[in-house]
Amino acid sequence: MPDPADNTLIDRYRNLVARIKTAETQYGRASGNVSLVAVSKTYPAEDIRAVAGMGQRHFGENQIQDAMAKIPLLTDLDCIWHFIGSIQSNKCRDIAHHFDWVHSVDRLKVAQRLSSLRSEDRQPLNVTLQINLQNEVSKAGITPESVVELAQEISQLPNITLRGLMAIPAPETNFAEQRSVFRQLRNIMENINQCLGLELDCLSMGMTNDLEAAIAEGATHVRIGTAIFGPRRKK
Ligand SMILES: *Cc1c(COP(=O)(O)O)cnc(C)c1O
Repeated sequence: MPDPADNTLIDRYRNLVARIKTAETQYGRASGNVSLVAVSKTYPAEDIRAVAGMGQRHFGENQIQDAMAKIPLLTDLDCIWHFIGSIQSNKCRDIAHHFDWVHSVDRLKVAQRLSSLRSEDRQPLNVTLQINLQNEVSKAGITPESVVELAQEISQLPNITLRGLMAIPAPETNFAEQRSVFRQLRNIMENINQCLGLELDCLSMGMTNDLEAAIAEGATHVRIGTAIFGPRRKK
């Protein structure tokens, strides 16, 4: 657990990287198997630059306006940008141009737009499908029952590579419960692979409060904000 006295950005980043390493070891994951997506939403470009200076390359943003104010200031850094927020149709162009990954796709229309707006001389956009595991009305994501069909359609699009699944479970403090929800996501991905003959291999799951459980259940991308950048100010 981080020492509360270690409250600088750099200390928090170091502690978090150590936390991920410890979990990889504890749950038998190959070292470096879990990619850290540093969720920099609401934090300024200087903070991203400081964390990039520690060797961090993957950054996550959930609002296109916020992201577009920062990404142009950081083009010298070779960052890999992940879009993790809700996607309005009129934002697809910026997302397709400025991001490398989109974690939050849950509709065919959006995927089609992203594919058609992604320029063909770039690498295809990496996409994970957001699943609403617990049927929360307030939350984005497709139901587990509908995901095979959506995956089938999206896997055909030319300028997108379907990589796996993403979920944001309801807050839960019990470790066994956290694990059981993440295990569901892994099972859904395995089922898609079986039904469709795909080889999806990315599970975007785990945040500040549940990253160990996610790593135990096979997370390949943990999306961490607070543990690195500190508490966000409420809007
Ligand atoms: C904000 C956010 C995170 C990071 O959450 P923390 O609890 O601050 O680590 C991860 N994923 C998504 C989709 C987010 O919006």
